[in-house]
Amino acid sequence: MKTTELKNMETLIALAKNRGFIFPGSEIYGGLANTWDYGPLGVELKNNVKREWWKYFVQEDRNSVGMDGGILMNPNVWVASGHVGGFSDPLMDCKSCKTRHRADHLLNDDSLPIEEMEKAILKKKINCPHCGKYDWTAIRQFNLMFKTERGVVDASLNTIYLRPETAQSQFVQFQNLQRSSRLKVPFGVGQVGKAFRNEVTPGNFTFRTIEFEQMEYQYFTQANDSMKDYEMFKSRAMDFYKTRLGLLPDRLRFTDHTNLSHYAKAAVDAEFKFPFGWGEIGGTHHRGTFDLGNHQEFSKKNMEYLDPTSNEKFVPTVIESSHGADRITLAVLANAYYEEQIAEDDTRVVLRFKPSVAPYKVAVLPLQKKGLTEKSDEVFSMLSKHFMTTYDDTASIGKRYRRQDEIGTPFCVTIDYETLEDNCVTIRDRDSMQQRRVKLDNLVAEIAKGLA
Ligand code: ATP
Repeated sequence: MKTTELKNMETLIALAKNRGFIFPGSEIYGGLANTWDYGPLGVELKNNVKREWWKYFVQEDRNSVGMDGGILMNPNVWVASGHVGGFSDPLMDCKSCKTRHRADHLLNDDSLPIEEMEKAILKKKINCPHCGKYDWTAIRQFNLMFKTERGVVDASLNTIYLRPETAQSQFVQFQNLQRSSRLKVPFGVGQVGKAFRNEVTPGNFTFRTIEFEQMEYQYFTQANDSMKDYEMFKSRAMDFYKTRLGLLPDRLRFTDHTNLSHYAKAAVDAEFKFPFGWGEIGGTHHRGTFDLGNHQEFSKKNMEYLDPTSNEKFVPTVIESSHGADRITLAVLANAYYEEQIAEDDTRVVLRFKPSVAPYKVAVLPLQKKGLTEKSDEVFSMLSKHFMTTYDDTASIGKRYRRQDEIGTPFCVTIDYETLEDNCVTIRDRDSMQQRRVKLDNLVAEIAKGLA
């Protein structure tokens, strides 16, 4: 059988829209750049990605707990974290076609100071990728944090920010988290939540958006163990992508940061091979004592940990395992897409999701509408207590199988007239397209076995 992988993003964007994974944001008003809404299938897929992440990083590790911090925080948090002063992109506008670009992206190098970037763009004579002309403004640093205002009276409005990352809640709440959970260093805290960045460059579908979800895990450890822990979290990230989400190993790689922050001992991006090229989906960062140390200095509150065995007090070192829920969901979608030529004039599109992330686990399909609805409702009601289940009684059975293939449903269950006599149904497997008869009494167990 001839199998073709996903070749371009347009195919995926069209499928995502037609099948209800992802829609352009505010489309009826002409949209809003870099915003998207998840539809019925997209919300299931992304929830499954987040659930798998939580299981792997929080639930299955007895030295881990979770939290859910607020999006709005005291603005001093962002002064201490360095975001007010330094969280910016170097932007330049094309004076000819008025498009805006990131200088580091044009150069494919984010290690240079601004003056050097300008010189390098001039030296290499990099033209505008949109109109092809060379007519740039100077580079300006553009802060990525969204601002909003708090208060009711104009004169007393205070500027506050929408968080650009989730991580700061774990740092700011470090003492409460440690005391209430009674965990000893080393321990970790996971969090999944929204973050906002005023990204002005084009986004490659949901890869770069202005509102997105992060799954971030902060591991508080001792300085002496920290490089060993860094390596451990590097391999845990890859293990998570491969074993829990089914991302193919040859579509994953690490890229070390060449331009380390002054406080970081090591940092690496995990990248996935999208149709548009390699793109970061997550990162492992050795953050030293930068975050807790800074919050201690700015808040004047003690961030030290008292080791009960050695009686030593110290500010823990942090290893961060950071993941983008939307980018990973996009990777899972792109990774699953195949076109299969199953006969000379017959091609099917199939999303070969790992069952754990598939939006629907099973579809209930009455062979005919007449006389089978009651039994099919009964089957739906039985299955939907255990699995995310869909129901489809329109069109021919062949078309309905293809529809389920295209949204990645691992199993279809068909109810026919014989079912009324023998209480058996047909299970059809998405990948092999094989069918077999199963007793209704065993159906839940059979599907659970197949999904495991
Ligand atoms: P990039 O270099 O692509 O802008 P980053 O290095 O700034 O990303 P981090 O600050 O390390 O990203 O954020 C952690 C994760 O959050 C990223 O690995 C990515 O998966 C996700 N992420 C960051 N920015 C965006 C965005 N604008 N849209 C969607 N996901 C994002």
